[in-house]
Amino acid sequence: MGIIMPPPDFLRDIRNICNENGLVLIFDEIQSGLGRTGKMWAGQHWNVEPDIMCLAKGIAGGVPMGLTVMRSEILDCLKVGEHSSTFAGNPLACAAGSATIDSLTEDNLVSNSESMGRIFKSGLLKIKEKYKIVREVRGLGMMLGVEMRFDVKDILLDGIKNGILLLYSGRNILRLLPPIVMKEEEVNKSLELIEKLIYNEEKRRFG
Ligand SMILES: *Cc1c(COP(=O)(O)O)cnc(C)c1O
Repeated sequence: MGIIMPPPDFLRDIRNICNENGLVLIFDEIQSGLGRTGKMWAGQHWNVEPDIMCLAKGIAGGVPMGLTVMRSEILDCLKVGEHSSTFAGNPLACAAGSATIDSLTEDNLVSNSESMGRIFKSGLLKIKEKYKIVREVRGLGMMLGVEMRFDVKDILLDGIKNGILLLYSGRNILRLLPPIVMKEEEVNKSLELIEKLIYNEEKRRFG
């Protein structure tokens, strides 16, 4: 929670500890995977590969689907009948998942996430310079967090009135995971609206 970035060596150190001790490293890329952070997998920012990866949410473009991906030597430990699921292999979900992966590559959505995320973050950083109620802006690609000095509830409600739906992470962080298909115009419009909400909040608190 909170869009907290790991320190630079963190994932590499964890990988090394796993290697040295024969441990399996599992990355939950349910939110961060599939281009969300500007690379296909968030682990790629640190050049670290897990042994098992959990995927869901964005994987089938809105059709419910979850996936566990693993190295074949781990998969081979499972014998027939040891692992099953009621809806596993659902044809509709699999077709949607396959189409999503095609779209990610054919429509260059990962690089779009990277470039739009960069514009989004630099806009948010500019807003932070102007308003003292903003404490920190962090994140990668289209996975951004804006930590405020206060509870964000009124900002979220004000957003509904002003035509932008925002989510929180904890009490005082705005969580921005916008669609990675966004265009620059839409990013700029969002920044405009977010600035307006923050301006309103600062006014409410400090006049
Ligand atoms: C949503 C989410 C889950 C749970 O996924 P379900 O498909 O709802 O079970 C697990 N981990 C992360 C990081 C998530 O965002």
